[in-house]
Amino acid sequence: MTRRVVLIGHPVAHSLSGAMHQAAFDALKIDARYELWDRTAAQLADAIEELRDDAFLGANVTVPHKERVASLVDRLTDEAHAIGAVNTITREGKKLVGHNTDVHGFMVALDQLVGRQKMPRYAVVLGAGGGARAIVFTLIREGFQRVIVFNRHLHRAEALVRHFARSASHMDLRAMPWHESIIESELAKTKLLVNATSVGLAGDATPVPGELLPPDLLVLDLIYSATRLQREAAAAGDTVLDGEIMLLHQGAAAFELWTGQQAPLELMRDALATARAGGLRSAEGEPAGDTGPAGDEAAVTAPAAVDHGASG
Ligand code: NDP
Repeated sequence: MTRRVVLIGHPVAHSLSGAMHQAAFDALKIDARYELWDRTAAQLADAIEELRDDAFLGANVTVPHKERVASLVDRLTDEAHAIGAVNTITREGKKLVGHNTDVHGFMVALDQLVGRQKMPRYAVVLGAGGGARAIVFTLIREGFQRVIVFNRHLHRAEALVRHFARSASHMDLRAMPWHESIIESELAKTKLLVNATSVGLAGDATPVPGELLPPDLLVLDLIYSATRLQREAAAAGDTVLDGEIMLLHQGAAAFELWTGQQAPLELMRDALATARAGGLRSAEGEPAGDTGPAGDEAAVTAPAAVDHGASG
């Protein structure tokens, strides 16, 4: 029987995750198919129920369902429970288990971005959705001392901060209103900026006007394609990384959970690059950008080597 793995989101568009996972299944001779399920919030519970069937190895969950799915599965791993968001589902018999592999993907990307510098202790996070939760969880775990969360709807950022209140009791974790003057003032004090909003996914919008960006920031944009934020941050003299490495490594971790086999990382990286070059859109719904350098090392756009036309 051909087993099924699905990506559940809205929209899901054409999937870079599909290219990456299908290439890995095929290379390891695993008889499985990766499918895209575009499901609205109203259709989500039924979609999750379907996954109990033996045909399914599991699923990925993406924008905007990661938080909601946490309450629809039977069990959460400790990490997914602590985060309150799920991006990967596995099956144990008829029971569904929710995992969060975004943490692993983000950690690999953060290490890559920071490079040989000292890990910063202060971060500004834009966004308070399922992706942002994994980011804030990781920053707390990594010993950051001050993390400021800005979100368009402040109440969601406040809910995120309340969610992590206990684990962040030793540090300064705060929600702040989305006002340019406040963002500018916090950016002047920080070393790390993470964009975990979906602003820039479509069109040429940016969450932070370029003139607010100080030089020498480390900027991690979870969006995979070349965005205006990445372009303007590079122009401001910042070191910039897009979401490709995170996408690859969260995907590899999910693959290992579904199959019990080691993910063929290089092959998945190549499949992503090929799909990107072919103009597909990523699993997270982002339009694919220009074909960037394939290696992790090359994906960081250092200020000295900025190409304003293409990030990563
Ligand atoms: P959610 O739908 O859970 O959250 C979306 C976030 O974007 C919210 O904070 C929302 O704010 C904000 N937002 C949306 N539109 C606007 C706008 N016009 N102005 C300001 N803020 C806006 O999505 P996720 O958290 O799952 O994903 C967020 C982003 O991170 C996506 O772009 C996704 O592709 C990316 N991502 C990439 C990953 C990777 O592996 N590279 C992994 C995970 C996420 P509000 O609450 O006010 O609506």
